[in-house]
Amino acid sequence: MTSPSPEIAVVGAGIAGASAAYRLSELGLKSRVYEAEGHPGGRMASAVIDHASFDHGAQFFTTRGREFRHVVDAAAADGAVKVWTHGFDAPPDGYERWRGVPDMTALAAWLLREAGVPGHFDQRVDDLKHLDTSAIVLTPPVPVSLALAQDSNLEPPKKLLTRLRSVEYKRTIAVLFSLEEHPGGVPSHGGMQFVDDPDLAFISDNAAKGVSEAPAVTIHLSNDASLALWNQPDHELTEYAIKHLKAKVGPVVPLGSMVQRWRYAGPVQVLEESAFVWGDRPVIVMAGEAFNGPKVEGAFDSGRHAAEKIAELVS
Ligand SMILES: Cc1cc2nc3c(=O)[nH]c(=O)nc-3n(C[C@H](O)[C@H](O)[C@H](O)COP(=O)(O)OP(=O)(O)OC[C@H]3O[C@@H](n4cnc5c(N)ncnc54)[C@H](O)[C@@H]3O)c2cc1C
Repeated sequence: MTSPSPEIAVVGAGIAGASAAYRLSELGLKSRVYEAEGHPGGRMASAVIDHASFDHGAQFFTTRGREFRHVVDAAAADGAVKVWTHGFDAPPDGYERWRGVPDMTALAAWLLREAGVPGHFDQRVDDLKHLDTSAIVLTPPVPVSLALAQDSNLEPPKKLLTRLRSVEYKRTIAVLFSLEEHPGGVPSHGGMQFVDDPDLAFISDNAAKGVSEAPAVTIHLSNDASLALWNQPDHELTEYAIKHLKAKVGPVVPLGSMVQRWRYAGPVQVLEESAFVWGDRPVIVMAGEAFNGPKVEGAFDSGRHAAEKIAELVS
């Protein structure tokens, strides 16, 4: 029998997977990253309609922790990220919101490049046992990772299983519009965040943000509206979005549109551990934004801790 590859397999090239690969490389361990999509970024996603470019998943990230800040500073020095704004309200709260350059996928791409890890893109993993490795980092959303582990007959022990099954996710419907002209009523930085609005959570003018040359607006419906309208046809969602966009920014003339339903927009509650570990040959480490802290920074931290756990186990 041949022994498994010494390379660690990382499933997912979102920020958690890219962070895991980056940290593994810092710790002197080789990894392979498998990504179902054709590019890195995951929910730090971008899209193009005609000549208009969009960030349509995460719109920005913050840097509260020292380790994430250190990496973000290095990525900024390379031009992969920059501060978008110091606040969406007037006056701004002064706290930095960062974005990717040219778009939000750039940070995960930069991490993989720096780690020297070639991504295996367009490669959806459907059986973990086929990865031929002694250690796997799983970073898709918890229900997706759990189903993958179960389908591979590598189910976690009951205690972990119960806790993983308890993780629920909010939904977000994103509607993207390419426009005839730049919208008038948005602040100069291009971001409008609505905390208690029943209809919309965010409007991003991608041109003002610096993501698109052509007029391009991303609209995130609120979590409540997304849940209520989830099964409505796309044309009803675009009508809903344009009505509320006009109410917020004034008249706009849409040219093209796209609807994206984000089933896993963010965990309702976060598990306190930074990752879950089980199994042996392969050892499985499940990580991502549902562990330790949510959002981009939480996912980064979880991926990093997953790499450190693997390093402890294989040394
Ligand atoms: C609409 C929306 C708005 C958001 N806004 C913000 C924000 O403004 N600020 C913020 O900080 N956070 C925001 N978030 C949350 C943030 O995007 C996530 O917390 C973070 O990107 C999650 O990263 P991750 O690596 O854990 O997961 P993901 O980004 O989901 O990465 C998992 C990757 O695994 C891949 N994958 C899945 N199954 C397989 C398989 N079987 N084989 C191979 N690959 C697979 C996926 O394609 C994906 O690339 C937002 C999220 C959404 C959806």
